Amino acid sequence: MIDYKKIDLKCGLEIHRQLNTKHKLFCNCSTMMQEKEPIKIIMRKQNPTQSEIGEIDTTAQYEFLRNRNFYYQIFPSEDCLVECDEEPVHPLNQEALEIVLQIALMFNCTIPDEIQIMRKNVIDGSNTSAFQRTAVIGLDGYLEYKGKKIEITSISLEEDAASIVDEKNGNVTYRLNRLGIPLVEIGTGLLIGYSPEEIQEIAYFIGMICRSTGKVKRGIGTVRQDVNVSIKNGARVEIKGIQELGLLSKVIELEVQRQLSLPEVKEETRATNPDGTTRFIRPLPGSARMYVETDIPPILIEDKTIQKIKKNLPEPWTKKLVRFREKLKLSDDLSKQILASDYLDLFENIIKKFNVNPSIVANVFVSTLKDLKKREDVKIENLTDEIFEELFELLDKGKIVKESVPDVLLYKSKNVNTSLEDCIKKIGLETITEKELREIVKDVIKANRDKPSEKIIGIVMSKVRGRVKSEDVIKTVKEEF
Ligand SMILES: [Zn+2]
Repeated sequence: MIDYKKIDLKCGLEIHRQLNTKHKLFCNCSTMMQEKEPIKIIMRKQNPTQSEIGEIDTTAQYEFLRNRNFYYQIFPSEDCLVECDEEPVHPLNQEALEIVLQIALMFNCTIPDEIQIMRKNVIDGSNTSAFQRTAVIGLDGYLEYKGKKIEITSISLEEDAASIVDEKNGNVTYRLNRLGIPLVEIGTGLLIGYSPEEIQEIAYFIGMICRSTGKVKRGIGTVRQDVNVSIKNGARVEIKGIQELGLLSKVIELEVQRQLSLPEVKEETRATNPDGTTRFIRPLPGSARMYVETDIPPILIEDKTIQKIKKNLPEPWTKKLVRFREKLKLSDDLSKQILASDYLDLFENIIKKFNVNPSIVANVFVSTLKDLKKREDVKIENLTDEIFEELFELLDKGKIVKESVPDVLLYKSKNVNTSLEDCIKKIGLETITEKELREIVKDVIKANRDKPSEKIIGIVMSKVRGRVKSEDVIKTVKEEF
């Protein structure tokens, strides 16, 4: 067992989340990433140039010498000349700016009066322009954790990079449609004196605050976490791209073990593998890789804008937790799980819209979906918000029972083009009437005269599972027995 205080574990977190805006950060393209077939592919190469002081960046030179070709797949309505770097950026997306201002205020940040968009060198080809645009929106904030203040040094609004599809013999292919999706980046100060589990918990609270805006995307690839890890007499190692929150503490633990086993630790950037181990990707880049975005003038943030956002901040998660327990009668465990769930905002919309038991809705998002995710043949991303709304509307109207929900979702996820009502018919899970149930009960009793009522209930259940509420079966058997 490692004593993390003794080895002086220091970590810093950088958490990125995609914002659920309609349009990208600097153009009107869609952020849905739903298109499957590219309409065009373009090829680019990157050449390093001298800076104002006549120097060439060593990492840019290194990349140039690798002589790679970058291919970009372009998708209809999700990419335009901006992503191709053929046209200057359009004005900054105001919706994205307001969401990040809201997040910055929720972390008690100071908001600068003037926002300056910067360009940050990116040389791996994931940006067609070879830089990423980023702007600091909040500074010097904090988050309360176990009675202490966790420093939030900066909150930025950034553009996401293109996603890699393939790399073979120096030819790299990217999908361009992720480039330009707005991201919020939240950076903590150095976390000293915390265990890996506690650091994971801090990341979880940061995520929860972001989610409570109801304006962040969910699903695979929408959250990326980087962590800096250093121990006594070691060097700073940056680990990038941890997509699963539950993996963070393991990544830190394994990195500490790796550093402890080495005679000398080098400053470097590493990437995460799915099992929590990491691999070297490059030396840690220098700090001089930011310069001003000259296509967009500085943006002034007026006091009245901040006041307006402050007035409309979302309900803090602490209050939400109390409301879930007291008003919605969710158990303590379920309240916490739904708060931590990516489906929090959808859950709240559904219980507002339909007359369904909040515990049932929460359980579908927390347990049923978790079980479905474990199955390899299920594509959870096929289950859109609209499908869930329709599902709970049918439940509200008594057209299905809660017991049938897992089967309906399973079938629907594989048959996206079949309407939900047809899915229910296909798998034979339409509800049966009270009269039909009574007939079945009578038949079962007649055929099993020697059996006790519990056995009768079991037999009836097996015949009507998923089509009628279990309490109705028990009631009818008792009446007819
Ligand atoms: Zn575009």
